[in-house]
Parts: sequence; structure tokens; C-alpha cells
Amino acid sequence: MSMIASNPVASVDAEFWREIPGYSAIAANEFSDPAWQERNCLIRADQVTELLAGLVHDEFVTDLADGLSHSTMSMRVTPYLIALINWESPRGDPIRRQFLPLRSEMTASHPLLRLDSLNEHADEIAGGLVHRYPDRALFLATDRCPVYCRFCTRSYSVGVDTPVVLKDRNAPIADRWRAAIDAIRATPSIVDVVVSGGDCFRLKPDQLLELGGELINIGRLRRIRFASKGLSVLPMKIINDDAWTDALIRLSDLGRSRGIEVSLHTHINHPREVTEFVVAAARRLFSNGVMVRNQSVLLRGVNDDFAAMSSLVKLLSDHHIHPYYTYVCDLVSGVEDMRTTVRRACDLEKCIRGLTAGYNTPTFVVDAPGGGGKRDAHSYEAYDREIGLAVYSAPSVRPGELFLYPDPLHSLSPAMASDWAIADRAREMVQTVLRRAKESL
Ligand code: SF4
Repeated sequence: MSMIASNPVASVDAEFWREIPGYSAIAANEFSDPAWQERNCLIRADQVTELLAGLVHDEFVTDLADGLSHSTMSMRVTPYLIALINWESPRGDPIRRQFLPLRSEMTASHPLLRLDSLNEHADEIAGGLVHRYPDRALFLATDRCPVYCRFCTRSYSVGVDTPVVLKDRNAPIADRWRAAIDAIRATPSIVDVVVSGGDCFRLKPDQLLELGGELINIGRLRRIRFASKGLSVLPMKIINDDAWTDALIRLSDLGRSRGIEVSLHTHINHPREVTEFVVAAARRLFSNGVMVRNQSVLLRGVNDDFAAMSSLVKLLSDHHIHPYYTYVCDLVSGVEDMRTTVRRACDLEKCIRGLTAGYNTPTFVVDAPGGGGKRDAHSYEAYDREIGLAVYSAPSVRPGELFLYPDPLHSLSPAMASDWAIADRAREMVQTVLRRAKESL
């Protein structure tokens, strides 16, 4: 693994968006207006042609349209993100890879993949309220996001229907929220709530205040985390949408006055996403006392190399966005090409640890498929690199059970990848690694 890190400073030219033909006349105040950004999100492949006239080949747009017709996530991309993509070489661009699916890149999913791979439905104690860990709950407040990521774990619910998935809705409906809040109140072990979805950026300021206020008023909670990718994909909302940002700051202040930490958990994957806009937004949150943590996803061709990951960690730390977790990509349909191996995650963590303060070093985790929760990537009970299968236990979450995480098929030898398609052979391989895991316990 190369240990040469790129310069850990992300910058883009001032008014970089003007390079895009369709944005060449857009002034800075318009581009910085979150309402303009939201109104002008791209949701169809043909809009890419219209906007980029001459900068993109027809073949790319056809590939994109075909990719969308096979994707579990629909398309929604802000103009800001579109302008950050290097359109001279879009196929290898780390931002393009996250949001615009190309059919030519899609490969067969691993046979162990299931929609809702984390089995969240099984742990619901109310509609959209997942209680997996003893002291925490996940509140899926909405099913909408400012953008849609190809690799979304919650592709069973988030976004609009696609040709391959009809979504289980988790809309922000008052009755559903009421039932979820009642369930939290009635479960004394819960002291920590993650409000996610979907993305809290899509909640209106009064919805944010109402929900945050209700949770704070329960009295027993110690931590409330609002999850939003907005800081990285629509940072101008934090800078310029005072109503939304003030709502978050008010909740943070109110929580602190009651001994409750109210924080923002965000999702930045590549150093190029840390632009001057993001830095300004992060500074506004920091100077108003809002704790911000980052949860990256390890993605092949995006950030699965030392240069990208080390730059990201340093940039986040420098701007007071705590690098909390790096997730090995979940088993999500249509993104096998983006998954990396458990070995890759362990190697990267080994190289990253020591570069900066321990508390600013992300923990690399596998969210154990089937509901084992987050496990340190290197804490497997057994890992057969040839078969491409790691086995984890989760004593404090599901004692006595074992959970399987398969490496992507493209990382295996052609013979081994073919073996996974044969049901009897796949069963045999699973049993072999499980046996080894049981012997090690
Ligand atoms: S922002 Fe988060 S919840 Fe929304 S699509 Fe991306 S990964 Fe999924």
C-alpha cells in the first residue's frame, strides 16, 4: 500500500461552477442560495446532457440512463456536486462514482446480499424506530435526502421507487413520529437516539425543533444525534439557511442546558468534498458549539487508498469534524463494484492509525449483515481471504450468534467467484469458515 499522502488541503477555484456550461452565468449569490440548489437538483440522465452540453459524451449519458434503470437508488444530485465532478474524466471521478451509476460498471451482486442487509425491520419496535443496541435507538424520521447515494444501506426505504425497488416509506408523518416517541419513552434502557432516515436536511426547521424538543423533553436521554449528509452535499444550507441552522443550534444549546449532547453526524467520503463551502459551514457549527462527527463509507475507486483516506482524516480533524467511523460498504444491490475487502479496511486502518491524534482516527467497522451491529473490521473470529468471507460475533448485541461479511466477488479468483454462484458449494464454503470461527471462540 502506498504511503505517499497527497497535500491535505482541498481547494477548488473560486466560482468553479462556471466551468459547467449550464452554470456559466450563475452568480456567486445564486449558487450559494440553498433554495436555488434544491430547485435545480438533477434527477434525470437527460438533464446531464442539457447542462453539460459538449462536455460529456452521449455514450456516458446512455450508460447513466441504463445504470439508473438497474439501480436501487434514484438520482438526485445538487448543482454543487455536479460542479465538483471532473468532467474531463468523469468515469474515474470519486464524486461521480458515488452519485451517478453507470451500467457498464455494475457487476453481479454477491449471493449473500439481501435487501435490508442489516435486517433493520426485524428490530423495529415502532414504525421506523429500530432498537438494536440496548441503550440506543435509530429513529428514521424521513425517507428523503438532499441527494441520493448509489450505495445507500437503506435503499429498501430511502428515496423514490426505482425500476428495481418499491420502497417501504418512512415519511415524516405526525402519527408515526408520535408512536416512535412514545416507544422511546416506554423503553427505559434507551438513552441515546440517532435521528436519521433519510436525512434531517429534508426536515423543515419547525419539524426539527418539534422532534428535537420532544426528545429532549423525555428527560432521560443523554445523547441525540441528528444525521445529515447535507454538510458535504449542500453546505450552503448551513451557511445561508438561518432558520434550519438556527433550529439545530437552538437544540444543541437546549440539550446542553439540560445535560444532553445534541450533535450532527455527517457523511463525507473524499477530501475533494471538503471545499471552502464545507469549511465555512463547519466553522459556523463549531463556533456555535455544535459537535459534528463524520461517518465515511469505504468505497472502491473513491477513498480506498491511503492518500485519499489520510487526507480526508486530516482535513476533517482540522475543521473540527470528528472522524468517527469508516464503514466497510454494506451489502447493497448494484454497487458490488464499489465494495472493498475486509483486508483492505484492516490494512488502511493500520496505516492511518498514528498519523494524528487517536481520537481523530476513525474506527474502521463492518456493520454485520443480519443485525450484529458495528464490529471493528479487524475483530473477526475467522477470515478466509481466498473464499472471501469474514465471520464476526457480537456478544453484547446478539450473544451466541455469528455474522458473515463477504468480500466482493471481483476481489476473488475467477474460480472462487464462480463457486459462489453454485448453491451447494456456497453453503459448503460458509460452513467451512463458520466452523473455524466456532473453534476460535
Ligand atoms: S444521504 Fe445517507 S440516507 Fe441518504 S441516500 Fe445517502 S447514504 Fe442513504
